[in-house]
Amino acid sequence: MAFINENYLKLRGSYLFPEISRRVREYQKNHPDAEIIRMGIGDVTQPLSPAVVKAFREGVEEMSRAETFRGYGPEQGYEFLREAIAEHDYRSRGTDINAGEIFISDGAKCDTGNILEIFGHNNVIAVQDPVYPVYVDSSVMGGRTGEYLDNGYFGGLVYMPCTAENNFIPEIPERKIDIVFLCYPNNPTGASAGRRELKKWVDFARNNKVIILFDSAYEAYITDPEIPHSIYEIEGAREVAIEFRSFSKTAGFTGTRCAYTVIPENLTAFTAAGEPKPLHPLWLRRQTTKFNGVSYPVQKAAAAIYSPEGKIQVRETINYYMENARVLREGLGRMGFRVYGGINAPYVWVNSGKGIGSWELFDKLLHEARVVCTPGSGFGPSGEGYIRFSAFAQRENVIRALERISSIYL
Ligand SMILES: *Cc1c(COP(=O)(O)O)cnc(C)c1O
Repeated sequence: MAFINENYLKLRGSYLFPEISRRVREYQKNHPDAEIIRMGIGDVTQPLSPAVVKAFREGVEEMSRAETFRGYGPEQGYEFLREAIAEHDYRSRGTDINAGEIFISDGAKCDTGNILEIFGHNNVIAVQDPVYPVYVDSSVMGGRTGEYLDNGYFGGLVYMPCTAENNFIPEIPERKIDIVFLCYPNNPTGASAGRRELKKWVDFARNNKVIILFDSAYEAYITDPEIPHSIYEIEGAREVAIEFRSFSKTAGFTGTRCAYTVIPENLTAFTAAGEPKPLHPLWLRRQTTKFNGVSYPVQKAAAAIYSPEGKIQVRETINYYMENARVLREGLGRMGFRVYGGINAPYVWVNSGKGIGSWELFDKLLHEARVVCTPGSGFGPSGEGYIRFSAFAQRENVIRALERISSIYL
């Protein structure tokens, strides 16, 4: 008889996006002529930039000729891409990361989920609330939590509320923790963490032998020069942090798939006997066993974002989204909403300021303005009362959505 991994039974049915779709479908059924504007999706809308497409094509061409054909590539990723990342994303900013510490993958989602495999089951894991659900659900699947509780939390995980009061940067929890997921710039709150806030976490991690799993998928959206682009800009972070980045939001690779994870060579965690062991060889072993790399044309396309034209083109697209974010922020602010984020992240996190619940506000905007957002409570109990707007949209839709919302709010 085969047995299932019963941890999967603890998972809550993925509720948020199916529930949004259900409510939109229901509305559409009753109002077949209504034209709906979707401002809730966390997926990019602009095409790959020309420099990326050119490199992608060249990669495919090379695969079409015997002389330049490539089979399996290195599991850790091609040297040309790892070198480009080390140079342009780290060394050029004065951060000490070398190509050997970078692992190319097909997504930050799978890496942030899979990374837990190299950690023991005795770790206490802390997550932000609201949270990118991947960290929580992969902890559940791996049997690292208890059951789902009435309060919206899983037993065994430490949830750190992120609210307007703490600028969406969690306090150090009172309970002992071993591993902490931090995401900055943050999805869903759009908050960013400054040097002082990150240093607080790095110092805590160094003093308590805690590992920080730092998701900086939205690093490219940072506009404030005071905000660190990498956790490794903080002194000592190489001893305590793994960093996850992705080309998904940086360069429109959500459907193309390429990301990377940085594990510094001197980063260690401990055996039960208290002996420090480096994590880099464990992840290398894991990847070489279970992963066979990202396709050559995709890695070539990713490397093109570091070319001079690529850099300019990718920046233009990001600026386009960030202009959407500004328009959203200012427009909603003028209508009296409390508006957060949207300066160093493509998400605007919005509260009615009148005690209206997330789903209630979602329904009001859907029914009265035909605009779809994402209810904040879907990301965790501390998201209650908020809704998330995404800047990944066409400008004219952003403007029309604001006009419609203002017609019910002004
Ligand atoms: C979009 C996103 C990612 C990127 O995931 P990929 O698998 O690389 O597409 C990672 N983390 C967060 C918080 C995200 O929102």
